[in-house]
Formats: sequence, C-alpha cells, structure tokens
Amino acid sequence: MMQGNIIKYVADMLFPRLCVVCGRALNDGEKHVCLECMDELPLTGYHLVDFNPVEQLFAGKVPVEHATGYFFYERGSRHAAILHSIKYHNNPHLGEWLAGRFAAELETAGWFGDVEAVVPVPLHRSKMAARGYNQSEYVARGLASVAGCRVERLVKAIKKHETQTHKGQYERQLNISGVFKATRRAGDFAGKHILLVDDVVTTGATLLSCAEALRQAVPDIRISIATLAVTRLQ
Ligand SMILES: [Zn+2]
Repeated sequence: MMQGNIIKYVADMLFPRLCVVCGRALNDGEKHVCLECMDELPLTGYHLVDFNPVEQLFAGKVPVEHATGYFFYERGSRHAAILHSIKYHNNPHLGEWLAGRFAAELETAGWFGDVEAVVPVPLHRSKMAARGYNQSEYVARGLASVAGCRVERLVKAIKKHETQTHKGQYERQLNISGVFKATRRAGDFAGKHILLVDDVVTTGATLLSCAEALRQAVPDIRISIATLAVTRLQ
C-alpha cells in the first residue's frame, strides 16, 4: 500500500465519510451521496420538457430562454437532507459536486453549450457573514466547470430580505422587489447568454427579482435559469 493510501485508509477508519442521505459509510469512488441514494434522487427531467413548471413561473414576467432544476425537494423527504447539508451544515462542496452531475445532464439539452457565464444569486453581506459562504456560488462553480465558462457575479444584494417561507406569493414578490441590483460588469454581457443559478426554486420570486435587475441594466442580456432543487408544492 502506498503511503497516501495508508493515510486515507486510516482517515476513513477514524472519520468514515457518510452518505448525506442514508448515513451509511461511503465506498471508494462514492462522494457525498451513495450510489443507491443517487439512483433514487427524484430527478425532474425538466431540461427536456418544453414550458416546464419552472419556466411557467417566469412566463409573462421576465423573458427567460430556458429554466430547469435538477431534482424535486420535498420537506421531510429523505433527499431533503441534501439541501439542508448544502445550506446549513457547512457543506457547500456537495452543492458543487451535484451541480457537476446536473451539468452533465444539461449537456443533453442543446442550449447549455451556449451559456457564456454562470451567475449565482447573491447573498446579502450580513447573511454571507453569518453563514460564511454563498451556497449558490458553489452550485454555479459546478455548472460553470462543465459549461467551460466562468462564474460571474453580475448581481448584488443591496437590501436584506427575510426568509419568506411563511409569506404568501404576492407578499413574497413585494418583499423581494428592490433587493437586487446588477453590477457594472453586467454591461459586458449585452446580447450574451447567461445562466442564473440558485440552490432551490419555490415561487421563483428571488430569481425573478435577479432577472429583472439584470434586464433593467442590460435589456438585451439573454437569461436562462437553473437550480439544484425544485420545491414540490402540494
Ligand atoms: Zn445513501
């Protein structure tokens, strides 16, 4: 056994890497989520569906070329642990890794190769300070590495917005308007196709607000949207 392998073997004994979903020890070659749990990941397949439910969230509100999400998120479901781990348990690398898998699927949709920059939904600096990282930025990295383009911070959060899970859709929309602003750099993307990215989409209010901010600053910017998870509403 090579020395590096011995160290890895001992480290695995002392600190076994566990599947985020089912908790069993991961095998060599498995990362973050075991093969069985990856097989059971409830994929949406929306990137192959015209006018899919994520695209419908933005229809008539802001021009979006394509919108999709990787898997369904349902509160209390087994796979909900993935999103919690990315967002609250200091495990954003799981988001980056999953986004890489997502990107491999997106490549089967013709438009993905056309994307010229991946743009994460920003966090307000107070939230960033509390959490220490922006999970959407990691998702953006995973997608950009497969798309072969850069992560660009073209939107900033100029106002703090509160967690909106308890609010109705109309209130959420009101709550989020004026929260985001395009950066000066966004001007370099006139006529270009960018992929706006978040960890999860529920009502679409946050992404809509970001897309509006971009279009306001750069009217002919072309926007598509991708999220890791899509909330399955009852
Ligand atoms: Zn598992």
